[in-house]
Amino acid sequence: MPTFRVEECLAEIKECLEQGWTGIGYKTVAFEEAWKTYTGLANAHFVASASAGLHLAVSVLKQAGAWKDDDEIITTPLTFVSTNHAILQEQLRPVFADVDEYLCLDPAAVEALITPRTRAVMFVGLGGNSGRLPDIAALCRGRGLRLILDAAHMAGTRVDGVHAGAQADAAVFSFHAVKNLPTADSGMVCFRDPALDTQARKLSWLGIDKDTYSRTLRSPSGYHWRYEVEHIGFKYHGNSVMAAMGLVALRYLDQDNAQRRELAAAYDEALADCAAVRPVPVAPGCEPSRHLYQILARHRDALMAHLNARSIYPGVHYRDNTDYSMYRAAAGTCLRATRASHELISLPLHLRMRQSDVARVARAIATFDG
Ligand SMILES: *Cc1c(COP(=O)(O)O)cnc(C)c1O
Repeated sequence: MPTFRVEECLAEIKECLEQGWTGIGYKTVAFEEAWKTYTGLANAHFVASASAGLHLAVSVLKQAGAWKDDDEIITTPLTFVSTNHAILQEQLRPVFADVDEYLCLDPAAVEALITPRTRAVMFVGLGGNSGRLPDIAALCRGRGLRLILDAAHMAGTRVDGVHAGAQADAAVFSFHAVKNLPTADSGMVCFRDPALDTQARKLSWLGIDKDTYSRTLRSPSGYHWRYEVEHIGFKYHGNSVMAAMGLVALRYLDQDNAQRRELAAAYDEALADCAAVRPVPVAPGCEPSRHLYQILARHRDALMAHLNARSIYPGVHYRDNTDYSMYRAAAGTCLRATRASHELISLPLHLRMRQSDVARVARAIATFDG
């Protein structure tokens, strides 16, 4: 359940309407600059969604590295479908590796799957946890592989004091309404290499080499109607109304995440003696966004029903992707992910909750004898 700062959002959006500029440019530029300042990342391109950003990242890296169709990207089965669709959308092959106790890719499992056709690793920081991301980054450097970070849950996550994303060739954040930096629908793709950022900007607007904003507001000689088109491209760029909401949400991100971590700490304490459930640990060195608070429960479905009967509605993030018919060829190859997929619960965690709400959920779990 997102919490919007309604008056501040309306004031930022009002500026867009008064300026007569709601599209790409203006607030999208301001938000990109604010995001770079906040994260310390070198480049940031505002896009329509993280799904678009993930596809764009794979597409740009494939082109830059002259990857062939059916080349491989090692990825996790425990994620939202966007992650692995992005690989297939570029005619590449997702190779599923198992997860570790943080429910993120296990470096040993990844290493065992590297072949001469492996081009990249796709890492998901599940729930805002960074897992063994630094080890994966070192592995990729050592083996000449690209690292793509699906950072959809990682707005505000720090790893060894540095904002998540610096470890990767491309990091993709989601600002969907249900994420911890909520707009309505948008995302950010952050390339390490400025040349790839430039390429992504062309591809995200149908291959056109300059956007309308640069051609009008920024051009000293007035409107330049002439532009070049070198590629097919997509319609993936973000717009100023979403960026206006993002600018407001970013002002509160650290404060909001701190509140999430306090609620998570309250869950940790309240569930410490509860044998029925095991909280997923946060990796050492990680200051998580706490987009999610995840537990594992042996009798998950019964516990869910028990909680639902008490008007508590947790979520599940995610179903093992190799369970879906389109990825079924890989079923049974990632046993830890498959088991987690049957045991996972994301407990309620949002900014309108108080410690007393956490206590109520914990009490409901304690009365479950499964
Ligand atoms: C939400 C999510 C996405 C997609 O984000 P959108 O902005 O909705 O496209 C991708 N990966 C993960 C892990 C997500 O949770």
